Order: sequence, then C-alpha cells, then structure tokens
Amino acid sequence: MRDRSLPPFWQTYEPNGDCRRSSVEAFVETVEDANWYRKKNLLALRKCEGAEDLVDDISRCSAARPCRRILCPPCARLYRIWFAQQTLRWFRHSKQRPLTSLTLVVRLKQASNRDLPKISIARVHGRFRKRMRRAGIFRVIGGTEASYNELDGMWTVHVHLLLFGADPIAIADFASKCTKDGISRAVSKPQEVNDPIKQITYLQKFGTFYRAGAFDSRGKGRAYPMRPAQIAALASWTDSYEFEDFLFLAGFRRYADRIVPTEISRAARMRRVENSSRGMSGIATTWLRDEALSARAAKTCRRPAFALLSAQQ
Ligand SMILES: [Zn+2]
Repeated sequence: MRDRSLPPFWQTYEPNGDCRRSSVEAFVETVEDANWYRKKNLLALRKCEGAEDLVDDISRCSAARPCRRILCPPCARLYRIWFAQQTLRWFRHSKQRPLTSLTLVVRLKQASNRDLPKISIARVHGRFRKRMRRAGIFRVIGGTEASYNELDGMWTVHVHLLLFGADPIAIADFASKCTKDGISRAVSKPQEVNDPIKQITYLQKFGTFYRAGAFDSRGKGRAYPMRPAQIAALASWTDSYEFEDFLFLAGFRRYADRIVPTEISRAARMRRVENSSRGMSGIATTWLRDEALSARAAKTCRRPAFALLSAQQ
C-alpha cells in the first residue's frame, strides 16, 4: 500500500532549483490551462455514472493535497513536468557521447469503449519491452496514451518513445515484428530530435479530447471534448493506475524521483556485437552503469551516471 500522507515523487523538486524545470514549463500547459481543463473534465465526468468518487477527488485537489488522479489536469501537469525533466537529463547526457536519439510512436492495442478498461498497461509494456530487446533496442524512455478515433469508434493505446542510440537495422527489425499485430501504421517513421524540449514534453500527455475533421497544417484534426461514453471508458481504464504506470522504460528504471539507467545484460550486449558485425553503424551503443557514479549522480544530478563503452570492449 502506498503512503498517501507523503507528497507524490513527481511533486518533489530539486533543493537548489533546477534549470530544466523552467525550460520544460514553457512547453507544457500553464497552471491556468490545467485548471480550465479540470473544469471541462469535471463537467464531462459528472455525466458519467459511477464516477462520483473521481469527481469528488478532482474537485478537492490542491497543491497541498494532490489527488493523483490521471484525469486531474493539475496533477497530470506536474507529472508531465517531472517526466520531461528526467528524460531531458538523459537526452542531454546522451548528446555528450554522442548518441543518435530518435522519437518513435508505436500503436500497441486497439479497443472499443467497453474493452478499453480491460487493457493492462503492465502486460502490454512487458510484451513490448521484450520485443524491443529481441530487436536490439535497449535504452528507451516513453509515455503511454490512449487516443480515440471517431471514425471507427475505437481507442488506440500507443506509446511515444525516445530511443537512445538505436540503429536503423534494429528499428526496422522491430517494426517488422509489430506489423504482425495487425494494427495499421503500427510503427511511425522515426524522427530525429531537432527540438528536444518540445519533442520530449510531447512524449507523455493525458488529453481528454479527440481529433476529427479535416487535417490542419500539422496533419491533425480539430480537437473536441470527449462525449460521456468516451470519458467514462477512459475514467474506468485509468481508475486503478498511478501516473508512473504510464511510464515506459527499457534500460532505465525509476528510483524514487529519478530515472536511472540499468545495466544491459551480457547476452544483450552480445546481440549488439552480432548486429555490429552485420554492418551496423559504428556508433557505440552499449551503456554500462557505474554503480558508484550512479548513486552520486542520483543525488547531485551533475555528474554522468554511467560510462559509455563500445560493444567491442
Ligand atoms: Zn489532482
């Protein structure tokens, strides 16, 4: 049982201030926006049968006593800031190596309003992580979302990922495995990270609208608030989850309020060597954690937490 008397980990801040926070805040919703979305969500949720407790929690939410509900925009905002700060930290670290980082969207599961609540995030993540590892993708940070498509009335549970140092062969191998799931456009085209804060803050969102109609210049339809049946499905699905359950990690783990790298197994490294000998790009892609540095870095955030070694070493 989690201790609810303590503030959630995503609400704790750097004791000496963190320069990443203000740059991240510029790309997420403002406090005013979050409060406006809260009103919208409450309006929709009040029409849903069985959502009384959720409405009550979100209505009472405050900075002193955050409700921690997924459909509470002020809480979601703080979690998104935490997520982006941590991801940005490792992105900047990887740039010093240098490693090529790419963003990727992967569609994992589709479900109707009735079936969405039956989808287990942990199970979907577990299967997905295994598939990535088999393809040779080891270091990933991402966020999980469910989007609603009005045309077919279906939800798509998908992940927005930041891949650290993944090579094109591994991504192509992974994508070909995903096509077997039968989901259309299962894996998007990988995108280079040219606008890090904007792209990293986009990895995890908790939207309560859907897009429809003609595409705009960004290839997106207009946003509409969800109807009661949709928000009821989303509320039912998210009800048992904490924000961190939406966090997808491979080659990293969450340690209190930090995301820290984990050691990549020898078997996985060997697979990487095999790939290299098949003519992969020569980018060093195996990160080994230095335990002592990592522990210190978890406290100071100033030093690199692990050493990057080439696969051949
Ligand atoms: Zn809240």
